[in-house]
Amino acid sequence: MRREWHQLSYPGVGNPAFQTSRPSDDSAEDAALGLDRWRDLPRVQMPPWADMAEVASVCKVLDNVPSIVAPYEVDQLRAKLAEVCEGRAFLLQGGDCAETFEANTESHLLANARTLLQMAVVLTYGASMPVVKVARVAGQYTKPRSAPTDSLGLPAYRGDLINSLEPNEEARVADPQRMIRAYANSAAAMNMLRAYLSGGLADLNGLHDWNKDFVRASPAGERYEAIAREIDRALDFIRACGMTDNEALRTVSLYCSHEALALEYDRALARVSDGKAYGLSGHFLWVGERTRQLDHAHIDFISRIANPIGVKLGPGTSPDTAIELCEKLNPDNIPGRLTLISRMGNGRVRDALPPIVEKVTATGAKVVWQCDPMHGNTHESSNGYKTRHFDRIVDEVLGYFEVHRGLGTHPGGIHIELTGEDVTECLGGAQGIEDLDLPDRYETACDPRLNTQQSLELAFLVAEMLRG
Ligand code: PEP
Ligand code: MN
Repeated sequence: MRREWHQLSYPGVGNPAFQTSRPSDDSAEDAALGLDRWRDLPRVQMPPWADMAEVASVCKVLDNVPSIVAPYEVDQLRAKLAEVCEGRAFLLQGGDCAETFEANTESHLLANARTLLQMAVVLTYGASMPVVKVARVAGQYTKPRSAPTDSLGLPAYRGDLINSLEPNEEARVADPQRMIRAYANSAAAMNMLRAYLSGGLADLNGLHDWNKDFVRASPAGERYEAIAREIDRALDFIRACGMTDNEALRTVSLYCSHEALALEYDRALARVSDGKAYGLSGHFLWVGERTRQLDHAHIDFISRIANPIGVKLGPGTSPDTAIELCEKLNPDNIPGRLTLISRMGNGRVRDALPPIVEKVTATGAKVVWQCDPMHGNTHESSNGYKTRHFDRIVDEVLGYFEVHRGLGTHPGGIHIELTGEDVTECLGGAQGIEDLDLPDRYETACDPRLNTQQSLELAFLVAEMLRG
């Protein structure tokens, strides 16, 4: 006899890792977990929604959709970040500054994922440690802005989840229906990535072959050749030992992350599992430099979910603020739970970071220290483009390594804005991109990203730093 779908039993049923409860059937539990407490708190960078009733009806839809990620994966990532925290692994996070619906294509997703995985191979070798791979993908659809209007006097673009990049008044109106599109695009992106990751994209030999192509073609290839050759020999050794069938050589876990900015969206995709709240819009959620006020909405929301979370720290961060963030966001001092992402600028990292690291370390707070060498190094080019110079990016990472080496703490990872395409958004690198080259392929919806070659160059340089 044919049974209705809800009468069938599935292997996951009964396993708490697969069970989540819905706000509609468990609102008391949600309230106890404080998942809506942020609604009563001050909040900056609020999307300028015109119609709150429409926001509520969209969120009602999102309350009941299948989540983007699963609680057990979130727990798994936290455990891997605990290894980073303890100095036994390295974290590589990267992707677009702002994803867009238009660029959410197979080719773009694959190019970004491949670049990140190619970087990871080089870093794994350089660090002689596992590299935890986290993409800015499947949800990186919101942007905090420094000003409410742009250079044309239009309402600022706030990310595809909120409004459109198109430069006209109408397109810039905040549209709650865009949350549904962001969800659909995120779900499709994760679905595609999961499929390709177990279908050859993550093959170590293939990734290394791509890296060898890069080294051959790069004007600075000679510098990177030594490491590439060493990796070659390591792979030959693995093959000679007959370890070619090892699953670990063919698959990787690639986690997804985004800034938790439009709290309506992240809240609607939060679920309760095994008595804990999980933000299932992504594995790793972070709060940005502009929204990390201790008593405000964003910090409150991420304090209540069990995910690994991050906070950006700019050069104005006091050591006391860093400690207060640790106490608020990781009261149980769980390793892997909290990542502090410094983004000081290359000119400040060597003086602004040490007092923070010293004080946090002295309190015994367990954190992952990650370096974002992008956001403190943005400037305007002579021809009016928002850009970053490769040399400053490398120098900030170098400064970050110097600081941690000096203090005996673990330089746990890097956080990069990159794309797997041949764009011209950041200056320098072996291609020698200059101001006048920027218009050739300046395609970002927000901040300038390293292109494929610049990303791989950075990976080789960081591998050198990791080897000391
Ligand atoms: C970002 O990561 O894109 C961003 C806006 O960073 P920050 O909050 O550090 O400025
Ligand atoms: Mn950015």
